[in-house]
Amino acid sequence: MTMQAVELKPKQYRSDIEPTWCPGCGDFAVVSAICSAYSKLGVNPNNAATISGIGCSSRLPLWLNTFGFHSCHGRAVPVAVGLKMARPDMTVVTTIGDGDCFSIGGGHNAHPARRNMDMTLIVMDNNMYALTKDQCSPTSREGYKGSTNPYGSIDAPMNTISLMLAYGATFVAQAYAGSPKVTGDIIQQAIAHKGFSFVNILSPCPTYNKIETFQYFKPRLQDINEELGHKDIGDKTKALAMSDKVYDHIYKEDGKVLTGLFYKEEKVTFEEKVADLKKSYNGDDNFDVSKLFEDFKA
Ligand code: SF4
Repeated sequence: MTMQAVELKPKQYRSDIEPTWCPGCGDFAVVSAICSAYSKLGVNPNNAATISGIGCSSRLPLWLNTFGFHSCHGRAVPVAVGLKMARPDMTVVTTIGDGDCFSIGGGHNAHPARRNMDMTLIVMDNNMYALTKDQCSPTSREGYKGSTNPYGSIDAPMNTISLMLAYGATFVAQAYAGSPKVTGDIIQQAIAHKGFSFVNILSPCPTYNKIETFQYFKPRLQDINEELGHKDIGDKTKALAMSDKVYDHIYKEDGKVLTGLFYKEEKVTFEEKVADLKKSYNGDDNFDVSKLFEDFKA
């Protein structure tokens, strides 16, 4: 992350547009958590962009006064990648829903993660598609009766924590919208992380999802760092073993809903490699594309 630090209160990151989400939507807490993280990090709104796709949660950039891009369904991540390539100095945060990110846009996540692009991917996971009125998404639980699966989904939910670890994300965490302060702290760490950071936020949809509610999550929450002692966050094998338990709460009687930091690794970023590549080609940061064509013609 590159920043020109400013001193702004969290509310100064909000635009004057009123959110149109339903009362009680978990996504309200995510906006507050992002504003809190931006404030603590001193993110300059003129040097930051919040990118989204399509869906209830993807309206989020409208409520902020950073630059924003409400893009196409499944295409938020490539838009963010393009922006980061053009403006590596900017803070780039993508905010999207679970269906958008892991179904329609599923193929896009691997590449910025494996390249360790210095950007943050925040998923507001309500375990179904809300904007299209309760269709099953990749993270819907087995048996979930959505509008497209009236007899109950026969698919196992996608483990997005394990997936992002396997893709090579260098910061992987899960948070819960009902704990906005903790969520703000995790988002702050994610944005401050130099490299690709992924935060899955369990964000209930009280309008449609009558199973994964605030009342459901609260008694089942377990902090993997504080309560389970998952401290060795640079060990990918341990992180993968821990991530294997994220759906225990669905399949086991006493299964818990895990939150916290699964994995963090310091590693050279894609932007640093690109800068080095430019230097190795012509010895300075002012890469001259026309020289490539001259070389090609010669
Ligand atoms: Fe939030 Fe659900 Fe309402 Fe969409 S439908 S705004 S996800 S509560």
